[in-house]
Amino acid sequence: MAITLDVRDLLGSVGATRDVRVRERVGGLATELASVPEDRDVVGSLRLESLVEGLFATGTLEGSMQLVCARCLTTMASPFTVEIHELFAPGATDEDEAYPVSDGTVDLEPLLRDVVLLAMPFAPLCRPECLGLCERCGGDRNRNECTCAEESDPALEHARTD
Ligand SMILES: [Zn+2]
Ligand SMILES: [Zn+2]
Repeated sequence: MAITLDVRDLLGSVGATRDVRVRERVGGLATELASVPEDRDVVGSLRLESLVEGLFATGTLEGSMQLVCARCLTTMASPFTVEIHELFAPGATDEDEAYPVSDGTVDLEPLLRDVVLLAMPFAPLCRPECLGLCERCGGDRNRNECTCAEESDPALEHARTD
């Protein structure tokens, strides 16, 4: 799925700008513990400015991601806002720091995907002091579902003093 813009009017007109509203569904927005569901739009505005070396895109992008707490596996919704400062350049390849311009068009989707993926937390937490799940019984320690500690502690201490 591509989000293609015809930018022939901007190319070669250094200093020219165009404002673009973005309201798109972007595929592939998922890491192990974070995702933007495929039926949810990312929304924002972009300004494309024509430079000698290509088109510079600036703007902001907003949406909501679904996070899974890395400790207790609770799911939660988390709004996000990301800033965009990226260059589109004719002839850019995967090795470059820029996105390609080809046949007078740019595809916004890889840029939108990259900036949102970069904003996804590696280890989301439902709250900083989340106690997580018990490794033994799987009970949620935040909700006192685990009773392992009370049962096993005296035995462990006894074993150590022996
Ligand atoms: Zn948690
Ligand atoms: Zn337990």
